[in-house]
Amino acid sequence: MSSLQVELITIGDELLLGFTIDTNAAHISRTLATAGVEIVRRTTVGDEADRIASAVREALDRTGAVITTGGLGPTSDDLTKPAIAKIFGRKMKLDEEILSALEQRWRTRFPNSTFPATNRTQAEIPEGARILANRHGTAPGIWMRIGASLVVAMPGVPSEMFAMFETQVKPRLLASGFGGAGVLVQRKINCFGAGESAVEERLLDLTRRGHVPEVGITVSDATISLRILARAANAAEAQALIAPVERTIRERLGTLVFGVEEEELQDAVLRMLAEKRLTVATAESVTAGLVAERMGRVAGASAWFRGGVVAYVNEVKRELLGVPQEFIDEHGVISAPVVEAMAIGCRTRLRSDLAVSTVGLAGPGGGSPDKPVGLVHVGLAWEGGVSSQNFSWIGTRAEIQSRTAKLALNHLRLHLLKMP
Ligand code: AMP
Ligand code: MG
Repeated sequence: MSSLQVELITIGDELLLGFTIDTNAAHISRTLATAGVEIVRRTTVGDEADRIASAVREALDRTGAVITTGGLGPTSDDLTKPAIAKIFGRKMKLDEEILSALEQRWRTRFPNSTFPATNRTQAEIPEGARILANRHGTAPGIWMRIGASLVVAMPGVPSEMFAMFETQVKPRLLASGFGGAGVLVQRKINCFGAGESAVEERLLDLTRRGHVPEVGITVSDATISLRILARAANAAEAQALIAPVERTIRERLGTLVFGVEEEELQDAVLRMLAEKRLTVATAESVTAGLVAERMGRVAGASAWFRGGVVAYVNEVKRELLGVPQEFIDEHGVISAPVVEAMAIGCRTRLRSDLAVSTVGLAGPGGGSPDKPVGLVHVGLAWEGGVSSQNFSWIGTRAEIQSRTAKLALNHLRLHLLKMP
């Protein structure tokens, strides 16, 4: 047992039952880990005094320091402070200063009504606790040190908790010797174009447990991210651990890597279009505008993105994009000839240097053995050339559409990479 480890307890029926997502726990853990505080366990309990008390007591037995959020308000389900007082055998006492501040605040906000008696409980704190001021709400937090044990209780409302945590709790924890674990720095490298296991196969020596720095792999909507996590005494040392690993990952994954941190495929594509001074347009069937929507997310897109056509039915593919009816009759809509004709037609009609296109079957109905749900083609036209690729996704309608938009952007990205 080390007294410099911390456990976190989030309190509230709505969290326990999953109706509210526990963002406080994520925020506190991430911030503490980054600051080098060792957080070893997270617990959630409902609004019941006994459960709160036993969760805090058990956590203190293990680690000696506990942070809680929630249950500090004025309502009958706000039981955190009395539960903590009980653990330490302390009485609750009314803090006159808090009370007069609460009354003052009430008078300015509601001059025509009297201060409700239930609100007085917010001014009650366990004996021996220090008060953490709440500048964004009414319920103060507490910082309570009894012997080797530390309990910090903060409000549940995220905006109130964030401010109290940033300005009072975190600095005090670091000053009390909790930051001994140094810093934690994360580098995220984003890839597209291969499956998770295929990517990991090339990095098995790095992703094994115990590698320093830690390398983790996650997938989100077909984008694969490698997270390099370095613990070190300071940021510069952490960077020195990360840099060679990042280099190795980039060498081994090559053009699969398109960006870092929060960068997405459209960011990479628009950056390259700007470098090469090329414009693009979109002709979308299965994605119904998602490729264009992604382009539009990037600030300054209008310099390089000319616009797009959502060509959902054959008539629009023919009339607005000039796709020959014979191609549709001969190959079916979900085919290389049709997606390529869409890109060529789009490029000339929207007068862009490049055009990307999509066709496919997003389902859930309409599949057949040779054209199953999830089969898509993406196309690209440029001056004097055209290309396409197909892929078979497994997923819901929304997943197939979203991933196909990424596939189209990635097809364009790989073309731009090969261009002189
Ligand atoms: P409380 O401190 O229990 O009065 O919390 C007030 C409100 O803040 C709750 O009704 C939730 O909507 C929100 N809240 C409480 N705890 C959390 C948490 N851990 N994460 C996100 N929201 C929370
Ligand atoms: Mg609550």
